[in-house]
Amino acid sequence: MAQREILIAGGGIGGLAAALALALRGRRVRVLEKAAEFGEIGYGIQMGPNVYPILERLGVFERMAPHVVYPDALVLADGITGDELSRINLGAKFRARFRHPYFVVHRRDLHGSILDCCKARPEITLEASKGLARFLQDAQGVSVTCEDGSAYAGAALIGADGLWSPTRAAVIGDGPPRLAGHYVYRGLVPTEQIIDRSHLDSMVIYIGHNLHLVQYRLRGGTVMNNVATIESTRFKRGAPSPGDRAELEETFAQCAPRVRDMLRYFSFDRNWVLHDRDPVTNWTQGRVTLLGDAAHPTLQYLAQGACMAIEDAVVLAAEIARHGDDFNGAFLAYQQQRMNRTARVVLSARFFGAYIHAGGGARLLRNELLAKRDPNNPWEADWLYRGIPLPE
Ligand SMILES: Cc1cc2nc3c(=O)[nH]c(=O)nc-3n(C[C@H](O)[C@H](O)[C@H](O)COP(=O)(O)OP(=O)(O)OC[C@H]3O[C@@H](n4cnc5c(N)ncnc54)[C@H](O)[C@@H]3O)c2cc1C
Repeated sequence: MAQREILIAGGGIGGLAAALALALRGRRVRVLEKAAEFGEIGYGIQMGPNVYPILERLGVFERMAPHVVYPDALVLADGITGDELSRINLGAKFRARFRHPYFVVHRRDLHGSILDCCKARPEITLEASKGLARFLQDAQGVSVTCEDGSAYAGAALIGADGLWSPTRAAVIGDGPPRLAGHYVYRGLVPTEQIIDRSHLDSMVIYIGHNLHLVQYRLRGGTVMNNVATIESTRFKRGAPSPGDRAELEETFAQCAPRVRDMLRYFSFDRNWVLHDRDPVTNWTQGRVTLLGDAAHPTLQYLAQGACMAIEDAVVLAAEIARHGDDFNGAFLAYQQQRMNRTARVVLSARFFGAYIHAGGGARLLRNELLAKRDPNNPWEADWLYRGIPLPE
């Protein structure tokens, strides 16, 4: 008898990576995506060397390669003085240490490449405008009802439905994610419009009290990706924070004129309000499990949320292959391998955010420590960047 389909709620980077990893192991998968189209927002994303071999194995990297940019260094600069504080070389020594490169890519190129790979697999069915509303499970399988009333039955359900995951609400029921009080603005501009061209080949992060601004180039270097984050002091004091343009400009008032001037590259039509969650000890219930932001949403300060979702995908597919139709066994083995690593990312990202956003005496100490860093092993990243053993 043919194996029953596995249902995945959510066709973001995590859900599609899981669909592809499962299809490559011969499993039939149906991805139910709430949005009217499978897509991603139009900004950049950083990818650590830990995720490179996985994207290669999934056949995604080959498709994406023409769009990938390899910055030569990760530069931390003091936003208040504009001076360089430390430089992490991303060249030969970095690649030798972590076995693979650090790269940046437009989110649409990453998501689109995974999507193209999924479309090429007969095992995968992709359905848009199918928001999971609820599910039921018994010893035989899972049935999902969508917001439009349509229903699907499958052998198991993977909730890859993001930060506000309804699957998580049913499996864990721990309420909404934690509001961090941090706000992000983004902007993409043609590189020729960039005035300060001192770090064009690098990824540069200007850091200041309660703020930072990241710049790196995308799409063959033709466009500059700009990301500005502020930690709202109003929010910290318990007052409501708009996190609006006025608050962004107020927070950036401490910065050197050439850093403040970079705010001209931003779009102010929307911002991102950052959330994460404290790590949990279980994200599986019977034949249902979680993946990516649904399981372990993180602040973006280590640039690893999507990388973790992609790592989840290959581990999960391997455990399903190993456990046959014992989905609960597979899901428990998967979460056991993923829990501490993803918890470390969540907690380290909080710490790194506080570190780069330091003010007063803490800023002076941080700057001194940064100046003493080894440019070839700057932040003891072996545990993260050396990646996971790739499952057989
Ligand atoms: C400012 C910022 C910068 C970041 N930078 C980086 C970075 O440089 N590197 C990195 O690795 N990560 C980064 N991240 C994190 C990364 O974007 C996320 O961790 C990643 O996108 C999570 O993927 P996901 O598939 O788990 O969730 P999502 O991308 O949120 O996808 C979830 C999908 O589920 C769908 N969905 C929602 N509800 C339902 C439902 N009821 N039924 C069906 N489908 C549903 C959504 O429409 C969506 O398509 C950043 C995040 C932010 C906010």
